Amino acid sequence: MRILVINCGSSSIKYKLFAMPEPHLISKGLIEHIGEKGSSIQNHYAGLKIILNRIKDVAVVGHRVVHGAETFKKPVFIDNAVIRKIRQCGAIAPLHNPANLAGILACKKLLPGTKQVAVFDTAFHQTLPDYAYIYGLPYEYYQRFGIRKYGFHGTSHEYVAQGAARILKRPLQKLKIITCHLGNGCSITAVDHGRSVDTSMGFTPLEGLVMGTRCGDIDPALITYLMRKRKLKIAQIDALLNKYSGLKGISGTSNDMRVLEKKRKEQDKRAALAINIFSYRIKKYIGAYIAVMGGCDAVVFTAGIGENQKRIREKICQGLFSHLKKKPRVLVIPTDEELMIALQTYKLIEGVKC
Ligand code: ADP
Repeated sequence: MRILVINCGSSSIKYKLFAMPEPHLISKGLIEHIGEKGSSIQNHYAGLKIILNRIKDVAVVGHRVVHGAETFKKPVFIDNAVIRKIRQCGAIAPLHNPANLAGILACKKLLPGTKQVAVFDTAFHQTLPDYAYIYGLPYEYYQRFGIRKYGFHGTSHEYVAQGAARILKRPLQKLKIITCHLGNGCSITAVDHGRSVDTSMGFTPLEGLVMGTRCGDIDPALITYLMRKRKLKIAQIDALLNKYSGLKGISGTSNDMRVLEKKRKEQDKRAALAINIFSYRIKKYIGAYIAVMGGCDAVVFTAGIGENQKRIREKICQGLFSHLKKKPRVLVIPTDEELMIALQTYKLIEGVKC
């Protein structure tokens, strides 16, 4: 059975085609610059048409959907009611869900009658206890507006946690694992007996670790201070925190860790500072999550920085476990969110067949 996995961003579509149940990757690709000035690809429908001309015999499509709010706790078959709910969830994820939805609607038209499945980035974190996901705001804000920690990168955290259990040759349900997804976006999750019990991203992907261009945790009072003092408008504050902060903002040069490591070696102080801040924040979170779970069997590093930057991994772990009687294993496991989506899609299909 061939499963096509689609990951739609605002101006791009990533895809991978798998043969299941092996799973075997048949082909993959990327369509970029959708809807941009001068691009020949005007929308996601046109982009998907190009992809579907390249491949054939698609039995099922698995879509990455960023935000499932509290509605979606696991993958689901897509029908009109699900489409409506994904649209509703888009109210709190205006940057992501509309693009995911555009891909779903395009597939519906281009592959009529083909089953489609939605796999949500937030679903894995729906097991967080209320004391971890409720903010210190008036409770009505949660009840009326759904303001709470949701967490993201769930597919990746779940995938590498399962990988760690295989490496440790123990059931995931008996392990305490901390997964660090360190790419351009960065998040960290405490996986206690197979369940996400805390995670660093929040209501949006801005909370938590220092990232490529996002600031992560800051004093929230800074926002009103900056708005008053610098007369910044909402869109400017948004851009400041999401696009001009993090590694890029601190170093003043780049959001790319490879560039920063090179600069650090050339004695660039700001690059070194950015790396120090980045690593320190991760170390703090790992320490907190060891406390939350009362121990830890493994710390997993994944994504661009996590998989490739050995020095940064070592810097994070330096002295981190010295107080522990039983030291966690430190593992590097490449993530594959598309494969995980294919596996979950296949599981859903097989469940229906049984
Ligand atoms: P995204 O979140 O966009 O998928 P990635 O997972 O590719 O991002 O991670 C991007 C980050 O990983 C960048 O900071 C980059 O410098 C770093 N990175 C990616 N590949 C390598 C590599 N081979 N060696 C060192 N750093 C890498």
